[in-house]
Amino acid sequence: MRIIIDGQRMPVQARASKDILVTLKSMSKILGWGIFYDAAKEVVYINSKSSSPPSILPDRQTAAEPIESTRLLGKTVCVDPGHGGSDSGAVGATGTLEKDNTLAISLLLRDRLEKNGATVFLTRDSDKDVSYPGSTADEELGARVDIANESGADIFISVHNDAFTSPAAAGTTTFHYGDAESIRLAGQVQKCLVSELGTRDRGSRFASFYVIRYTDMPAILVEVAFISNPEEEMLLASVDGRCKAADSIFQGVVKYFKV
Ligand SMILES: [Zn+2]
Repeated sequence: MRIIIDGQRMPVQARASKDILVTLKSMSKILGWGIFYDAAKEVVYINSKSSSPPSILPDRQTAAEPIESTRLLGKTVCVDPGHGGSDSGAVGATGTLEKDNTLAISLLLRDRLEKNGATVFLTRDSDKDVSYPGSTADEELGARVDIANESGADIFISVHNDAFTSPAAAGTTTFHYGDAESIRLAGQVQKCLVSELGTRDRGSRFASFYVIRYTDMPAILVEVAFISNPEEEMLLASVDGRCKAADSIFQGVVKYFKV
């Protein structure tokens, strides 16, 4: 595992472990440093100049967003934008791609969470495969689970769009893997999503999806709406719809943590 502070590689060689990451993260929190762990490359990036994630996230270098609150301080959230890179996910009738919608919503969600004090890990922050282009589905999902588990996050949220052969299918569903905390998280997020988006409530339900089954923390997979439904395709592709989706997931997280 390499450690890079302000672009300088530290002359230490450590085996990647949750212990080291947790130590570095709590140290960074105390010192107000930004920290980001790239699990695929086994590199820890630390930015001592600001508390926002460091320069490998170019769109955020100048981020001077006002803080909304500190109510999520000390909470770590791993957000997983479904699909990406060589895997577009489902495709809408007008050609919109699930991978673009999930990334946009996840980036907005990260902003809301960070503005309220949370530490956020994204499994991807651009249009790319998390493991490598052309990887098998298992390798790709495994890479996402690894990032979540190594991040030591308190909760995991995978963002997806639903799709079905009939364009009439519509609505929002949030999946969990059956443990009490995941059920509670799924319920809060689902409630906020349907009330804000005005979509049909398909409920929070059990499912055995890889990313919620193998993650160590309370974990949910959100199917925000149906990209195969013409109205919901527009909702998912619109700035307004994406903001509402991100806001509702954020509100659900706040309710889950009771902060
Ligand atoms: Zn999907």
